[in-house]
Amino acid sequence: MAVYRPDAAEARKVYIETLGCQMNQNDSELMFGLLAQEGFEPTDDRKDADLIIINTCQIRGNAEDKAYSYLGAWNKLKRKNPDIRIAMAGCVAQQTKDEVFKRSPFVDIVIGTQNIHDLPNLVRKAFSTDNTGHVMAVDKQKARSTYDYIADIAPVRQSKTSAWVTIIEGCDYFCTYCVVPYTRGRQISRPAASILDEVKQLADSGYKEITLLGQTVDSYGKDFDGQRYGLAHLLEDIHEQAPEIARIRFMTSHPLDLSDEIIRAVADLPRVMEFIHIPMQAGNNAVLERMRRGYTKEQYFDLMDRIRDMIPGVAISGDFIVGFPGETEAQFQETLDAVYRSRPDACNTASYSARKQTPAGIWETKGEGVISEAEKDDRLQRLNAVIAEVALSINQGYADQTVEVLVEGKSKRQQFDRWRGRTRTNKVVNFDSPVSGHDFTGELLQVKITGVGAWAFQGVHQPADQTDNPAIATATAGA
Ligand code: SF4
Repeated sequence: MAVYRPDAAEARKVYIETLGCQMNQNDSELMFGLLAQEGFEPTDDRKDADLIIINTCQIRGNAEDKAYSYLGAWNKLKRKNPDIRIAMAGCVAQQTKDEVFKRSPFVDIVIGTQNIHDLPNLVRKAFSTDNTGHVMAVDKQKARSTYDYIADIAPVRQSKTSAWVTIIEGCDYFCTYCVVPYTRGRQISRPAASILDEVKQLADSGYKEITLLGQTVDSYGKDFDGQRYGLAHLLEDIHEQAPEIARIRFMTSHPLDLSDEIIRAVADLPRVMEFIHIPMQAGNNAVLERMRRGYTKEQYFDLMDRIRDMIPGVAISGDFIVGFPGETEAQFQETLDAVYRSRPDACNTASYSARKQTPAGIWETKGEGVISEAEKDDRLQRLNAVIAEVALSINQGYADQTVEVLVEGKSKRQQFDRWRGRTRTNKVVNFDSPVSGHDFTGELLQVKITGVGAWAFQGVHQPADQTDNPAIATATAGA
């Protein structure tokens, strides 16, 4: 068991368990970076850690329960070694604040979504011999200037090829089921200069792909006073100023903010990938209205048609929620119809889960329109089956095509011979190569698709010219 020794030569260790979305994962990378400046090294083994952090998510009720069940297990570690420190970060911490200490008194640190930059201070206090209690930092709303701290830290990133770059936090939409505006606050866009600095640093470090992140990434810039600078302008600037970045992506878009200007930027800029993630959430207009999504199904379909007209070969993914309070079977059937009509390449799906501080959560608490868990499960299964059917029919168009794949690393299932990457349209490809003894991670390869499924392809690498490639020449020399 590791013990905190402030003067010891060996580095202290930090373990972070990340729940939830890419923005949480990006926050964890920033936390690792901040803690590296304090002399902490990441560890994959929580039993070996001096500091254990759970970065929580509150989108679904079970994510909160999951967070507390992790904490329960970690309490046992702390009983064995009182010198370790335990922290809760993320949306549950932001929303429940010092309730966390009441529910789990062994937790030492609570840190809100707007306070990541305070982590070093809190950790110093929590480990201080003078400290006798809990420490917490939970502010209500990030100021734009706090984005400056990002420029001073080097996040410890999970991948050496693809990086997330947060460009906007929070949301102004207040959909009736969603906690984000309460936990992450109102929309606040990061200054473009700060984003461009980070992207150029990533390019200098050899990253090939970036994904610009935000809860409503296409709203970027709407909160800038007196400036007309949005996502389309940012894409153009990144494209021009960081030509080493081979692939630029962005997510998640809101249907009301995906302007023709943004769609045109995706169509015109060759290193912006022809892939858009744009949630529909439901296929019935009454349900969409109760969700307060601000669009009708017809408007969503028009948008899909416009995207497909303007961006040849584009892939579109989405999100759907089933079992929203009051959703009838007939209304759910319209969601199934909407999948056939809009033909998404992939979808995240979830059965509705009440968050008590939201309007829909309050309806559920009052018993209004509650759908049973069994019914939700049944609808979810039927929706997933239709989505898989549509995805497979789209993917059949890739069979026997040769496509560009950015290699992410070895294939998970067959560590030694197969590689894994993604097409420009974000399809996963597991493929073999005639070349052995060469690490393709981070390279763009031509791969012939030999098999398609709903969620992944099989393929074979097609080297351009075997005699020109020293790696291939070496690998085939003994044959
Ligand atoms: S737009 Fe997205 S993040 Fe914003 S409130 Fe609605 S679901 Fe939540």
